[in-house]
Amino acid sequence: MVDFLEYEGKELFKRYGIPVPNFHVIRAPEDVPEFNGRMVVKAQVPTGGRGKRGGVRIVNSRDEAIKAIQEISQISFDGFKPEAFVLEDAVNVKRELYISVTLDRSVELPIVLASAEGGVDINSVPQEKIYRHAINPFVGVTQYLKRELSSFLGLSSEKAEQLGKILEGLYKIYDEMDASLAEINPLADTDSGLLALDSKITIEDDALFRHKDITPKYYILDPVEREAKEKGLAFVKLEGDIGIIANGAGLNMATIDLIALNGGKPADFFDLGGTDDPQKVVDALRLASKVTHKVLFVNIFGGVTKCDTVARGIVQAFKELKPSFKLVVRVRGANEDEGRRILEENGIRSLLNLDEAVKEVIRLAGE
Ligand code: GDP
Ligand code: MN
Repeated sequence: MVDFLEYEGKELFKRYGIPVPNFHVIRAPEDVPEFNGRMVVKAQVPTGGRGKRGGVRIVNSRDEAIKAIQEISQISFDGFKPEAFVLEDAVNVKRELYISVTLDRSVELPIVLASAEGGVDINSVPQEKIYRHAINPFVGVTQYLKRELSSFLGLSSEKAEQLGKILEGLYKIYDEMDASLAEINPLADTDSGLLALDSKITIEDDALFRHKDITPKYYILDPVEREAKEKGLAFVKLEGDIGIIANGAGLNMATIDLIALNGGKPADFFDLGGTDDPQKVVDALRLASKVTHKVLFVNIFGGVTKCDTVARGIVQAFKELKPSFKLVVRVRGANEDEGRRILEENGIRSLLNLDEAVKEVIRLAGE
């Protein structure tokens, strides 16, 4: 996944006819212009919930803006320090609406989600106050959808017209940019019309090759994901507390399924692929130690990747890292005896049986 920063999303909004407040991108205090009236300073980080953590401030002068930037620079947002700021005209908001286009995997279609109760508490809005409507990709945004949505949001006919254009722009971004999410929260309802105060755009990274204009500078990957990519490892972050390192996508998937079937929650997985390089194992363990919380399960079916190579990598990584999580190793296949011997000599127990290993993982995660 590739998340755009707010200002990158807003630049895209402008191109697709979605109205946004006038804004400046600030990289250093000397970029802040003199101004009169009220403006908003906003941290540019690839994560949400900035408002609730002090990353959005109203300011009334250049000096106040610089002070706010210095203060916000000290805040870490899920590990991200703001590298830029948006300074934009503050607007008088009457209502904060929510609107997004995203992929609904259950119906295998893009859907529009919307609510008249947008803003920083969108996650606690009850289901019945959320409008959902699937879009047929062969038809796109229909007149009917626009009318129904405007009436759901209680908009006047003038604003309904504007909302229709915004929805069309958002759907076009979703479609043309291969986005998995194009979101405006809040969409401000003001006396002078609707305005997108924030943007959240997530691009499917497997589609990046179709968008040569999105250079790596234009997006920010999760830092661990980025490092994994550089080291030639496939890494996927999940939400649980059990990390997985396995060789091959199939074995990784099977391992995730087995853990889930036994009641565990995978935190992430690294695919070593088909190489026989102990350094890759060290890299994977080092990265895993940044994301795995409780237990790391190394599950290897030796073939091209030999069990003894993996064992050497594990031993080296443990000497260097002294990680805090518990380790379960299962090795089977090419050079399994040699692999197990190396592990044992270094005080690391290994298992042969996958079922037993998974049960051990679950037991340790529950401790
Ligand atoms: P997020 O918390 O990371 O989603 O950041 P947002 O850009 O959505 O800003 C958080 C909140 O700040 C919004 O929901 C608004 O309530 C408020 N906000 C942002 N810009 C303005 C503005 O120009 N005027 C006013 N009145 N409020 C704003
Ligand atoms: Mn927001």
